[in-house]
Amino acid sequence: MTTRVMGTPAAPGIAVGPVWRPGVEGSAGGAEDAGVAGRQAAEPEGRIRTAAAAAAAQLEALAARLCKLDRIGEAEILEAQALMAVDPALVDEAVRLVAAGLDPVAAVVASAEASARTLAALDDELLAARAADVRDVGARVARVLAGTNITLPDMPSIAVAADLPPSLVAEIPPGFLIGVALSGGSPTAHVAILARSLGIPAVVAASGLLEAISLPGPSATVGSPIAVDGETGEILLGPGSAELRELADRRAARATRDRRAAALRNRPAATADGERIALLANIRSPEDAARALAAGAEGVGLFRTEFLFLRRQAAPTEVEQTAAYRRAMEAFGPDRPVVIRLADIGGDKEVPYLGLPYEPNPFLGVRAIRLAHGSRELLLTQLRAIWRAAGLAGVTPRVMAAMVSTIADARLLLELRDEARAAVVATGDPCPDRMATGLMIEVPSAAILAPELARIADFFSIGTNDLTQYVLAADRGNPSLARLQDALHPAVLRTIATVIAGADAAGIPAAVCGELAGDPAGALVLVGLGVDELSADAGSLDGIRVALEGVTGAELRDLAARALAATDAETVRRLAGALLARG
Ligand code: PEP
Ligand code: MG
Repeated sequence: MTTRVMGTPAAPGIAVGPVWRPGVEGSAGGAEDAGVAGRQAAEPEGRIRTAAAAAAAQLEALAARLCKLDRIGEAEILEAQALMAVDPALVDEAVRLVAAGLDPVAAVVASAEASARTLAALDDELLAARAADVRDVGARVARVLAGTNITLPDMPSIAVAADLPPSLVAEIPPGFLIGVALSGGSPTAHVAILARSLGIPAVVAASGLLEAISLPGPSATVGSPIAVDGETGEILLGPGSAELRELADRRAARATRDRRAAALRNRPAATADGERIALLANIRSPEDAARALAAGAEGVGLFRTEFLFLRRQAAPTEVEQTAAYRRAMEAFGPDRPVVIRLADIGGDKEVPYLGLPYEPNPFLGVRAIRLAHGSRELLLTQLRAIWRAAGLAGVTPRVMAAMVSTIADARLLLELRDEARAAVVATGDPCPDRMATGLMIEVPSAAILAPELARIADFFSIGTNDLTQYVLAADRGNPSLARLQDALHPAVLRTIATVIAGADAAGIPAAVCGELAGDPAGALVLVGLGVDELSADAGSLDGIRVALEGVTGAELRDLAARALAATDAETVRRLAGALLARG
């Protein structure tokens, strides 16, 4: 019987093969194998330092091997780990723990664990994911000390484990690791990044996986086959012939889709009958620009600038901000717009150094443009930086504010914009004549006021993430409200239709920059509703182009009409799904 376990998709593709469970096995030698002179290393402190150096040497050797294979990204990860192995903080803490009575192996593991926990506690997803790398390094040093090894797979296999050290992945001969299924981990952990760069399908955070799979021995390489779908997050234990056939069909369909996507990448997105739709990318920093351009983005529809303010002790200065905006503008040049959203601080994005008062309901609190009713300086500084950056980059700046809910909010934005320009002009620095000024429509009151707001603004950008949470009164971060968080709910779609009608009447464009724009089903419905522009994560752009290319404009308008007439999100998904499946 097949057991199905769901996890988080971490690297696309489908793999089917036998299970490999990485486990530690004993071997003679250990530290001595690594070239430790026994007598010199007899003292625990000496043994730890020598084992750390030996582990670093192993990691450097692995990195060198990968460099030769042109696997530079992985080599860099291992080089960083080689440095971690001899990091005085890690080694000194282990030595201290030995002095406090722990045996050297336990001390190294405990020291690495302490560093990993510090990293994991940071409010930074990427740094927190590095915790796994530190644990991996600690385990390697411990293995050298204890004289143990890990048995590698001896046939093309799917690794099943709680976590998989990236250095171990690098040690497996090419072709022997064909899939990864982890009960722990995260899509931003290095093992997931490695899997993506190696093209190995991976699913992480599949709770219940280890309980569901029962294999003998700690390092078994045999077992009934399993299947991993790194796009849906499905893991099938013991798939039967019907499931295997279905997986083969899925794989073939995706290969066709990927070929189509690659062929379309550098062409403007359009329906089968040639109706164009602008496709832009959402970014969080100037560094994201390269990925967006590689994905064929026609510009940036949402630069979430609040990320420049997070994880710092103080706000970025006007000079720092100018440099960041200028880099993004120059990366896209004068013909591809970069829409800069003024910092959307508040809600789920806290900035402790601003000293904002406690909010019992942060999503309904002083957030984004609402901050400027109290203190204007934060957004004024940002607007001056944007004017300056655009002056230096030689482009027309584009700005929008989040959480606009009244006409007064929109007018405040225009006032701040003009005040900031006057300040820059007074310094004699280059400053453009105008700034395209947009409003995010993500609060129901703004949608209702769309006809009036559209007469004030140059463009609208609909934030479907917040619009959905406010229309359906369902906290977007609460997993138990998942059934109320689908932006394809007709109540949300009818609201969007109102916004588009308001924009059309005033002759301004309406974009969508919430996650719905990046969902192929969502993109079809939105284009059918008359949206002019979609902005989504760079990784979603291929899927949108393929979805649009398979349908005509008339079919999309028909889909939108049916979606508006529906009364639940499931119906809308079914209608859009039928068009997608046909495409
Ligand atoms: C939105 O709300 O849809 C949006 C794009 O903004 P954010 O997700 O950053 O709140
Ligand atoms: Mg929002």
